[in-house]
Amino acid sequence: MRVGVLALQGAFREHVNVLQRLGVDVVEVRLPKQLEGLDGLVVPGGESTTIMHLAALYGLDAAIRDFNGAIFGTCAGMIVLDRQRLGLIDIAVERNAFGRQVSSFEADIEIDGVDELFHAVFIRAPWISDAGPAVEILATVDGHPVLAREERVLVASFHPELTDDTRIHQRFLELVREETSVRA
Ligand code: GLN
Repeated sequence: MRVGVLALQGAFREHVNVLQRLGVDVVEVRLPKQLEGLDGLVVPGGESTTIMHLAALYGLDAAIRDFNGAIFGTCAGMIVLDRQRLGLIDIAVERNAFGRQVSSFEADIEIDGVDELFHAVFIRAPWISDAGPAVEILATVDGHPVLAREERVLVASFHPELTDDTRIHQRFLELVREETSVRA
């Protein structure tokens, strides 16, 4: 299994490390041709405006729109995939939604289909302000969706790559496997 991590800006090394620990062959993606032959792609957190700007500069915006493997966006990566930007998942997001005072925090959250709580790190995080009917909401904080999935696209408003808990990355790898077998 080969998975790419968009490596333009932000917390991409942390995702690379988690995926390597899970035994995945990881590629840092900086150019469109590096998407060829990948089974999945992670769009990391960072600053969504910067990531969009750099992606457009290198033609990666169009290339990611055309990519047909599983995709996992975290924090800024979730924003980049929304309706208003790359349009790969039918959600609207509110950026920096948790407010300036308590903009960064950690919380133990309940995840749909997962037995034990997940310790989630939120850093100037967005939340999902609207979701289409095909979007499954997998976790919420104060009633606001923070983890969701629509078919091959998974998004989290927090940073699972900053803790040792690999359960969400493993869930993503299941999506990658499913998507690979659908395409085979
Ligand atoms: N606030 C950032 C943005 O709007 C996202 C923060 C993050 O990725 N940790 O792009």
